[in-house]
Amino acid sequence: MAAEMIVDIAKSFPGRFTVQARFSMSIQPPTVLILFGPSGSGKTTILRCLAGLEWPERGRIQFGSDIWLDLQAGIKRSPQGRRTGCMFQDYALFPTRTVAGNVAFGLSELPADVQAGRVAETLALLQIESLKEVKPAQLSGGQQQRVALARAIARHPALLLLDEPLSALDAPLRARVRGELRHVLKQLAVPSIVVTHDWAEALALGDQMVVVSEGRVLQQGTPQEVFNRPKDAEVVRIVGMETALEGRVRESIDGLAAVDVAGILLHALAEEGVGPDVFVCIRAEDIVLDKGGIGATSARNRLHGMVKEVSSMGALVRVSIDCGFPLSAVVTRSAVDDLQLRPGVSITASIKAGAVHLVPRRDTAVTA
Ligand code: ATP
Repeated sequence: MAAEMIVDIAKSFPGRFTVQARFSMSIQPPTVLILFGPSGSGKTTILRCLAGLEWPERGRIQFGSDIWLDLQAGIKRSPQGRRTGCMFQDYALFPTRTVAGNVAFGLSELPADVQAGRVAETLALLQIESLKEVKPAQLSGGQQQRVALARAIARHPALLLLDEPLSALDAPLRARVRGELRHVLKQLAVPSIVVTHDWAEALALGDQMVVVSEGRVLQQGTPQEVFNRPKDAEVVRIVGMETALEGRVRESIDGLAAVDVAGILLHALAEEGVGPDVFVCIRAEDIVLDKGGIGATSARNRLHGMVKEVSSMGALVRVSIDCGFPLSAVVTRSAVDDLQLRPGVSITASIKAGAVHLVPRRDTAVTA
C-alpha cells in the first residue's frame, strides 16, 4: 500500500470555532493536496499544526511510518524533527540578507560546503542564480515568490507547506507563476500541501483537494470531482465553480479560442500562454437557459441538451444538463416554472465566450 499522511487534529482558539481537521493524502508517489476554503476557515491553522508551529489540544499526525504527533501517547515531534518546508503568504524574507543568504537560512546545521551546494542547486532549479547577491527590496513580486519557495525547498523537506503562495502577485503574473509552480512541485517529487481559495489554482496545481469551512473538512477528492460533484450546497457555495471539464484548444484566432470538449466545440476568450490541454470552467449563474433556441443572443456558445436533474438550493434551483458533457446551471424558481424544467426536457444553454474560463491542465507547460 502506498505511504500516507493521516491527519486527525483539533485546535481551538477562545471564542472561535474549533478547527477539526481529518484527512489523508498519499505521500508516495508525491501528491499536491489543496486545502481550499474561505478566509478564516482554518486553513493556516491546519498548516501551522502540521509544521509543529501550533499545538492541537487533541489528535494525531502520522507521516508514513513516522508519528509526528500523538497526544494520547505523549508524542510531540518538534518542527525541526518533522522536516517540513514552509512558505507563508507574505514570504517573510529577511530584508538584510541577500537572496543566497535567505535561501541558506535553515541550513545552518549543515557543513559550509553542503550549504553552498544546496543554495546553488536550489537557485538553479528556480532559475534565480543571477539574483544571488540581491536584497529582497530590489526584487519584483514574482522574484520574491521564487526566493521564498527556494528557501522552503533548500532544506530538502519531507513535506512542503505553501500558504497562499501566489496571493501576493497580481493577476497576470499569478497565472504564469501558477504554471511554473506546478512544474517545480512535480520536479521536486516532494508531497506538498497548498492553501488557496482560488479555484483556478486548485485545478491547476492539485492532485487532491480538501474543502474546509468553519474548521471542518466538508469534502475530499480530486479537484475535478469536487467542482463537478460537490457534496452539498455548502460546498457549491464555497468553491464557486460548478463545471470543470477537460478540453483541448483546437485553434486560437483574434483572441477567441475554440476548445474541444467531448467532441463539441466551445468558444472561450483565449488567454496568453494557456493550452493546448485545459480545464474548461463555467460558473452555473453564467448559463442562460431557453427552450428551443429561438431568442436572439450575442452568446457565442449555444448548446442543446437534456435536463437530467432539478434540485433545490434554497431560493435558487440547480439544473443538471447533459449537452454531450455535463453542465450545471443555476436558475430562479420562476424560470423552472416558465421553462417547465424537469428531467427529460430538451433545453438550450447559452454561454458567452467571456464566461468560459480556461485553466491550464496539470503538467501542461506554460509559455510566458
Ligand atoms: P485566511 O485565508 O484569512 O488566512 P484561514 O482559513 O487560513 O484564513 P486561520 O488563519 O486558520 O484561517 O483562522 C481560523 C480561525 O482561527 C479564525 O477565526 C482566526 O481568527 C482564528 N485564529 C487563528 N490564529 C489565531 C490565534 N493565534 N489566536 C486566536 N485566534 C486565532
